Amino acid sequence: LTLLGIESSCDDTAAAIVRGKKILSSVVYGQTSLHADFGGVVPEIAARAHAEKLDLCIEEALKIAKVKLSGLDGIAVTAGPGLIGGVVSGVMYAKGIAAATGLPLIGVNHLAGHALTPRLTGRIAFPYLMLLVSGGHCQFLIVEAHDSYKRIGGTIDDAPGEAFDKTARILGLPQPGGPAIEEVAATGDPGRFPMPRPLLGQEGCDMSFSGLKTAILRARDAVVAEKGGLTPQDQADLAAGFQDAVTAILTEKTRRALTVYLESAPKRPAFAVAGGVAANGPIRDSLQALCKEMKTQFTAPPAALCTDNAAMIAYAGQQRLAAGQTDDMQLSARPRWPLDEDAAPMLGSGK
Ligand code: ATP
Ligand code: FE
Repeated sequence: LTLLGIESSCDDTAAAIVRGKKILSSVVYGQTSLHADFGGVVPEIAARAHAEKLDLCIEEALKIAKVKLSGLDGIAVTAGPGLIGGVVSGVMYAKGIAAATGLPLIGVNHLAGHALTPRLTGRIAFPYLMLLVSGGHCQFLIVEAHDSYKRIGGTIDDAPGEAFDKTARILGLPQPGGPAIEEVAATGDPGRFPMPRPLLGQEGCDMSFSGLKTAILRARDAVVAEKGGLTPQDQADLAAGFQDAVTAILTEKTRRALTVYLESAPKRPAFAVAGGVAANGPIRDSLQALCKEMKTQFTAPPAALCTDNAAMIAYAGQQRLAAGQTDDMQLSARPRWPLDEDAAPMLGSGK
C-alpha cells in the first residue's frame, strides 16, 4: 500500500509518501523562525503557515517520490492531538484530495505516528514497551497492536521536550531547545549544578519535570548575581546538569516500566523510544544500556524520524487502511486524543 501522509499538528508542516516500509519521500517545513520572537509557538501564526505551505509540501513529496495521486491507495492525515488550527488545516486539505480523487481518507492520531515509527524503521514485534517522549507528551505505553495501547505511567506535569525548550530559553540558547542543549551539554560538567530528580524514589512509573526549570532558573540567577552574566562554560555546565537529570529520571522510570512489562512474560521482550526527545544521544545511550542490562531488545528510530514528520503518519495510516479503518468526510480535528482510547476503529470521526 502506498499512502500520502500529512502532518500539521504543531510547528512543522510535513508531507510524505510511504510504500510498505519504504519512505519514498519525507518533506518537513519547520516554522521555528516564524515563532522566534515570541518565546513559543503562536497558534494563529502556525495555522496560517500550515495553510500556506501544505500545497507546496505535498507537491514536493509526490515529486520526490515520483508518485502521482492516481498511484496512491489512501490519504492519511493527523487528526489530533495538537494545535487545533493546524490540525484543521491538514484535515481540510486531506478531505479535499480524498473528495477529488475518491481515495480513502484515514485520520491518524499523531501519537500513534510516533509510537509506530520504531516498526517503520526497525524490526520490532508487538507487544513492546514504548517510551513516548516529545514536546507535549511523556508516557509509557504497552503497544499491543497498531490500534491498541495500554498506558502504564507518564509525566504528572510537563513533558521533557517542553522542559528542554524552556531551559534553553532560560540559558539564552536557541529553539528548539533539545538539540541546542544537547550540543552545549557535551562540553559541560553535569556535577557542577546538581539538579533535583523528583519522584525518583517513589513507586510506580510516573514522572515529574516541572521542578527542573525552577531549579535551572535559580541556578542561573545565582551565577548571574555573582558574575553579571553566563559564560559559555556556565551555559554548558547548566545544560549538562539539566540533561543529566532528565536522563536519570527517564532511565530509572523506564527500569520500573520494563519490570511491569516483563511481568507479562513477552516472548521476545522489546523496548522502543520515540518522539522528539528520543533524538537525544545521551538519553538513547542510557536507555540502550538499561535494555542490555535487562535483556530486552532496544529500538530507536533515526533522529529525523523521532521529531515530527509525515512518514510516521503515512505509515500509521497504512496500518489503519490495511485493517479497514478508514474515515469519511465527517472526520473531525481533535485537540485532545489520548492514545489508550484508540482501540475502537473510526474514533477519528468522533464516532
Ligand atoms: P507531541 O508529539 O507531544 O504532540 P511535538 O510534536 O511538538 O509534541 P516532537 O516534534 O515530537 O514534539 O518533539 C519536539 C520536541 O523534541 C521539542 O521539545 C524539542 O526540543 C525536542 N527535541 C528535539 N531534538 C532533541 C534532542 N536532540 N534532545 C532533546 N530534545 C530534543
Ligand atoms: Fe510530535
